[in-house]
Amino acid sequence: MIRARLFRGGSLEIAAGASGEILAVGPAAKAAAGRDAEVVGLRGKVWPGLQDAHLHLSPMAMRRLGVDLTSARSLDACLARVRKRAEGLLRTAWLQGRGWYNDAWPDPAFPHRGHLDRAAGGRPVFLVRKDGHSAWVSSAALAIAGIGREIPDPPGGVIDRDEAGDPTGILREKAVEMVRAVVPEPSDAELDAGLAASLRDLARLGLTSVHSMDRAREFGALQRLRQAGRLPMRVTYNLPYADLAAAERMGVRSGWGDAWLRIWGVKAFLDGSLGSRTAEMLDGRGVPVLEQGELVELCARCAKAHLNVTLHAIGDGAVRRALDALQPLAGAWRWWRPRIEHAQCVHPDDWPRFQAAGVIASMQPIHAVADRELADLEWPEVTANAYAWGALERAGARLAFGSDAPVETADPLAGMDAATDWRERAVWYPGLSLSHASALRAYTSGTAYAVGQETVVGRLRPGFQCDLTVVEGGRVTATVAGGRVIFRSRR
Ligand SMILES: [Zn+2]
Repeated sequence: MIRARLFRGGSLEIAAGASGEILAVGPAAKAAAGRDAEVVGLRGKVWPGLQDAHLHLSPMAMRRLGVDLTSARSLDACLARVRKRAEGLLRTAWLQGRGWYNDAWPDPAFPHRGHLDRAAGGRPVFLVRKDGHSAWVSSAALAIAGIGREIPDPPGGVIDRDEAGDPTGILREKAVEMVRAVVPEPSDAELDAGLAASLRDLARLGLTSVHSMDRAREFGALQRLRQAGRLPMRVTYNLPYADLAAAERMGVRSGWGDAWLRIWGVKAFLDGSLGSRTAEMLDGRGVPVLEQGELVELCARCAKAHLNVTLHAIGDGAVRRALDALQPLAGAWRWWRPRIEHAQCVHPDDWPRFQAAGVIASMQPIHAVADRELADLEWPEVTANAYAWGALERAGARLAFGSDAPVETADPLAGMDAATDWRERAVWYPGLSLSHASALRAYTSGTAYAVGQETVVGRLRPGFQCDLTVVEGGRVTATVAGGRVIFRSRR
């Protein structure tokens, strides 16, 4: 039998019932837990469990299975890792990985397939850029995917070419999919193991709940983990636009599932990214990935199907188009909680439109730290409107914070710092920063609201699920989900 638990020793005493719900908080906790309760010692400040509103579990799992270039600071450093990885592979095996980031290299020029041909001994290589919007591939990978000089750019994508018209090995946006489609997939067991390990990493960072933007394959894997009792935290799954028709046919609605694994929104891309120079700006720069007619139809279909939308929009042009499409649908159904993901650059005229249209700003504060120099370079006229959580909050927008991991670290404490004190330290529009209380809300009750869970998690109140993040001296000392300790630091 599962007993009630009493969490004590931290800034708040909390009693949790056998089904993981909070029975009482504060002085009443001890009596509420009863004499038979299991006592769990905590140390530090007790917060509602931190939640990440936007991350990608699939590439996190893949990163554990392939070569990780996240911390490689130069082209040579990347190639050294590729060389090392290639040594252990069959001559014909694919070499995969992600995390390269030429903007942080001494020479930020985009790399070439020739580099990979030499480093990987002619093997097919597929390396996704840190932001996920470009890939760097070898000649063998291009050949297997059938990409040659005579192949035109796909709609919404670009195949970089040299003066002679030959592909250089850099693929952008939809062109990335041309190679991804021919890369062999990991087995179910490999995927499950990679996902379980990634979720344990997230628990260590203090997260109790995440909103994932993944594919049906990972949703299947998450269900297997849930069934096997290997899902440590809550996952809300957002399905890709490509699967909307299937969801419509099945009649799946937002909220289907349980408090641990559930379906919420439909993820669609309106533009690219700042790093790949594909963010759609009002001045005409960038790559619109989804045209307006189709976007309007997509939103209407979701509202009709009682599904939500999570619209990726980074540039001020894409954000405006998303608001234009969502405004007429305000209040479309009981749990209509449309979200704009990233909203990295928003024209000031559009700040109040979030509240007016009931649109949630799902932002990743850590992006500002990573992108600041690039934003100053690419968006010099509009950086005052970039990563503008402070301005959006003042304009009445509801905020939900996340990390976009593995694009950036999933560490929510780093994100909270980025949203609050960092702007002052970095001397980068400190007026756009948030208070600590606001940032904490955006990682807890705000994130819960963004997936219709505001009466389940995000607050320390009787009846809510006992999800806790305990922090001492800027470090997570314990993570609790549904009354179960899913991480505890060693002293
Ligand atoms: Zn993302």
